[in-house]
Amino acid sequence: MNHGSIEVLNRKQILLSSEIIHLLQLENNSYDKIKEISRQDFHEFCNEFGSKRKELMANIEDIFNLYGLGRLEIKEVDSKNKSAKLNLFNSSIAHVHLNKNKESGKAVCNLTCAVLSGIFSYLFDEDIDCREQRCYAKGDEFCQFVVKKRGVDR
Ligand SMILES: [Zn+2]
Repeated sequence: MNHGSIEVLNRKQILLSSEIIHLLQLENNSYDKIKEISRQDFHEFCNEFGSKRKELMANIEDIFNLYGLGRLEIKEVDSKNKSAKLNLFNSSIAHVHLNKNKESGKAVCNLTCAVLSGIFSYLFDEDIDCREQRCYAKGDEFCQFVVKKRGVDR
């Protein structure tokens, strides 16, 4: 029995449908707050497993896939400039969007973007921002994100 509580790595988790998450992200502009929490989650994750940042990078796809936001594939990593290009297949948020709406004129996976910016802020030990360049909800084959140091031209 879990007594109404789900805990992973000493963090309480809430399992809600992707429809609810999609609705919440539409009505909420919490990019910076989600980014910071996501960075802290990864920090604690590393502490828990005694992993170094570099070791974590090798497992990032597997770890991210547990989130249920889609299947992440790291396309390119530039450790020197602290940037990366990431493909996301089967984006849960884009799928919900398309179930409820017509094809979008812009990328819709804002929550995923905020989570990725936090993860890579931790991995690169830098203030990293994320931008979604392609989105399944826009008619692209998959979603694609670019993470870079905050303030660097994109
Ligand atoms: Zn997307």
